[in-house]
Amino acid sequence: MMAAPIPPNHPRRESLLVRERLVEGFRRGLVAVEGLIAHGRGECFDYLLGEETTPPARRAIRAAAAALLVAEKPVISVNGNTAALVPREIVELSRVTGAAIEVNLFYRTREREEAIARWLRMHGASEVLGVGEDASATIPELFSERRRVSPRGILVADTVLVPLEDGDRTEALRAMGKTVIAIDLNPLSRTARAANITIVDNVVRAVPLLVEEARRMRGLGKRRLEEMLRGYDNNAVLQESLRIILERLRRLSSSRLVIDPRG
Ligand code: ATP
Ligand code: MG
Repeated sequence: MMAAPIPPNHPRRESLLVRERLVEGFRRGLVAVEGLIAHGRGECFDYLLGEETTPPARRAIRAAAAALLVAEKPVISVNGNTAALVPREIVELSRVTGAAIEVNLFYRTREREEAIARWLRMHGASEVLGVGEDASATIPELFSERRRVSPRGILVADTVLVPLEDGDRTEALRAMGKTVIAIDLNPLSRTARAANITIVDNVVRAVPLLVEEARRMRGLGKRRLEEMLRGYDNNAVLQESLRIILERLRRLSSSRLVIDPRG
């Protein structure tokens, strides 16, 4: 079934196109119903941020690229929403940084993990961890199906990129001593606050930029990358992201808001 076409000048066009991709992912069996709701929470923060990559998000993206490049065993954790929205870019990021790709679902079913792995392979992935028996290790202190991980992937990773992660899991990964990079539009979520590096941006904008930065920084030496990481302050990034929302709302709240559609 095709949705009605979105007019090219529609003010919410980009956002509606992203929604369609997610709904399409749902129909393909990649996205869970809960994933559709989670996306709505993200959209709301995107609206407040002005739907663009902010300067603090840029800094976090550069730090994230550095962290992935210096890591010994980097892993990209992929859920249904991420697979539906940026499959090609995830594969590219894995190529550029040498990170493994692992399927990791909050609402795990064999069908969905296989559908996601197939989808990623269709987009060029050569290996996808975390499917079926491969997800045989467990993360301590976690009770959802998300505690199941690959013994070749997240279990032994030193750095994990978690686009759209849940708070409990982020905290559990940190407790295991891993460097966690999150992409989360909500600067107040537990994920955002517990990660080492938080990219407060939409995955559809952040992942392509992350690929670009990683490609650009690939030639830098390990010492230079580590120096960049030492200078990075995640608390400042979260504060600034919140301040951008605050200032924007302050500006808007003293401007004229009513629209007269008659012109
Ligand atoms: P937490 O568990 O970290 O406290 P939460 O329970 O509020 O967060 P979840 O439902 O666990 O939220 O995860 C959804 C998160 O993903 C939300 O914080 C939402 O802002 C974020 N999110 C959803 N869609 C996107 C997107 N396209 N890009 C970036 N972030 C997104
Ligand atoms: Mg949560």
